Amino acid sequence: MNGNDDNSGFYITTPIYYVNDVPHIGHAYTTIACDALSRWHRMRGDGTRFLTGTDEHGQKIQQAAEKRGMKPIELCDEVVMNFKKLWKALGISNDDFIRTTEERHIKVTRYFFEKLMASDDIYKGLYEGWYCVPCETYVPDAQMGEDMLCPDCKRPLARMSEESYFFRLSKYQEALIRRYEARPDAIMPRVRYNEVMNFIRSGLQDLSVSRTTLKWGIPVPGDERHTVYVWLDALINYISAVGYPEPGGKWESCWPCVRHMVGKDIIRFHAVIWPAVLMAMGLNPPVRVFAHGWWTVEGDKMSKSKGNVVDPFEMVDIYGADSFRYFLLREVPFGNDGDFSELGMVNRVNSDLANDIGNLLNRTLQMIEKYRGGCLPPSAVFERSCDADAALRGLAEKTLAGMDSQMSDFSMDGALKTLWVLIGAGNKYIDETQPWKLGRDDPDDRLDIVLRTLWEVLRLASMLIFPFMPETAARMRSQLGLEEDISVERYPDWKWGAHLEPVSVKKGGVLFPRIDIPKWKADYDARMKSRAEALSAGSGNVSAVSFDTERKPAIEIDDFKKLEIRVARIESAEKIEKASKLYKLGLDLGFERRFIVSGIREFFTPEQLIGKKILVLCNLKPAVFRGVESNGMLLAAEARDGSGEILSLAVVDGDFPPGAPVH
Ligand SMILES: [Zn+2]
Repeated sequence: MNGNDDNSGFYITTPIYYVNDVPHIGHAYTTIACDALSRWHRMRGDGTRFLTGTDEHGQKIQQAAEKRGMKPIELCDEVVMNFKKLWKALGISNDDFIRTTEERHIKVTRYFFEKLMASDDIYKGLYEGWYCVPCETYVPDAQMGEDMLCPDCKRPLARMSEESYFFRLSKYQEALIRRYEARPDAIMPRVRYNEVMNFIRSGLQDLSVSRTTLKWGIPVPGDERHTVYVWLDALINYISAVGYPEPGGKWESCWPCVRHMVGKDIIRFHAVIWPAVLMAMGLNPPVRVFAHGWWTVEGDKMSKSKGNVVDPFEMVDIYGADSFRYFLLREVPFGNDGDFSELGMVNRVNSDLANDIGNLLNRTLQMIEKYRGGCLPPSAVFERSCDADAALRGLAEKTLAGMDSQMSDFSMDGALKTLWVLIGAGNKYIDETQPWKLGRDDPDDRLDIVLRTLWEVLRLASMLIFPFMPETAARMRSQLGLEEDISVERYPDWKWGAHLEPVSVKKGGVLFPRIDIPKWKADYDARMKSRAEALSAGSGNVSAVSFDTERKPAIEIDDFKKLEIRVARIESAEKIEKASKLYKLGLDLGFERRFIVSGIREFFTPEQLIGKKILVLCNLKPAVFRGVESNGMLLAAEARDGSGEILSLAVVDGDFPPGAPVH
């Protein structure tokens, strides 16, 4: 295996987005971050490639399509359009967009499977475990909480057993540990590195990589009853998109420098499973997997039922793509969780954008127009620079190096802070040199030096700001009398005073008009009000009760007759140690007494339960929860309202005797 990374290239990927959702702030954040990094590296002159795309297979897509009476691919096509539209609105500069339903991807996924089977890294076995249908994942016993619910989506798990192909993940445990010990920056930030290392050290088990229950997926080569596990299918996109394994394909230059950007919830797939699969294929694991944090909205968890999901299209409409991009990348140390607040964004627009950079440009150009008729003084004036001019120049040159190192650590907030130190220094330099006085009283070249110094700072800023705010960079450059197209700049070649030809500036409209807070607040309140009204009028009514509407196939009466359901009287309800959601319920079945374990503690007090006559499935095989044996399962109706899950026990009326069967 070739362990050398190629540091002259930069290939970055977003996760491929699952198409069961409309694009929201989380998708926008990841993609904007990758966009800023790619633009930085292109400007640096690095061989850069930026990939995004969509994950289109899986049960959820199949079900969502069925619900809408569509074919899965029709649903995918529709959602993909929304993503592409958003990337356009946000100024995303991806070089490619991969869809896992594309032939170029399917072909490579099958190639992976075949090759791994041939090397015995994939083998056939029997899988039994607790499965979460919505998440399409088996939940290992060690990760299952006392409540027996999926740790990710908190829905009930189903016991499943199936023939399955397995990937020998266990075989790569030591190799992964060695790799990450040697390269602590391969997983960032540090907290994720530690999390992954602990997980690997706790022992890796072979991974089931096929399903027989899923139809909407890629068939396993040579055994078409099986479908490739959607996660394996999805991960392969990163290399199928660059033409692997064709000789001479883009992957040959891209793969040695690949970086994956992911949300922190999917770090294990990218930092454990994927590198192991790559090692088994004889390919380099990714140079870096970076997991960013999550956004809350106005201090609250984002959710459809709360109606507080941030719509990136709306943010672009109101504030413009660049303000939105700037806020997301500047507000939160990259890697941490953040809180999205529109007022917070408005404040940043007013202070950082309108006040700091907008003013610096405006004041400088105004003076060049007023005192020099719009003609930029030549750079020869720098020969007579004084200490204050040289200090600002020194800071500018340091800014370039500082930002480069921060960007290589993916610290985008840090890079922006560094740039803003320079912008602040530029404004201070105007206050201190007082060019308006020089214009009247100073017969020598002082004014020329000051104006040219300020222009150089802005020329640099227009370049350094480009990865974060591409439209703003172009507008600044046109006002500064520079070519708008940033591709003329390669910042390793950037030099103070390098423009020797005459330049005439032309002050345009203000970069960022100040947002009037009282006016903005009135508009904001009106938007929130109409959103709340739409929510309570529409299907997403917050106070309405909803429930699972998934239908099941018809069964024979004999199937039903296998169930032994009886009336049982609850005699006792004890808490189970260290299991905050479980009760051990003592039941009187008339002819016998028994115990069951039930996850209903958050819904009922013992007083509400004792004495109730409930319905119990008696012939369910015993199971042990937290060391307590459970002999049966109670029946209850389940739904959700605005507050979360709600439950109602199935009970019988009146004096009915415990033990009576239910037909
Ligand atoms: Zn789940």
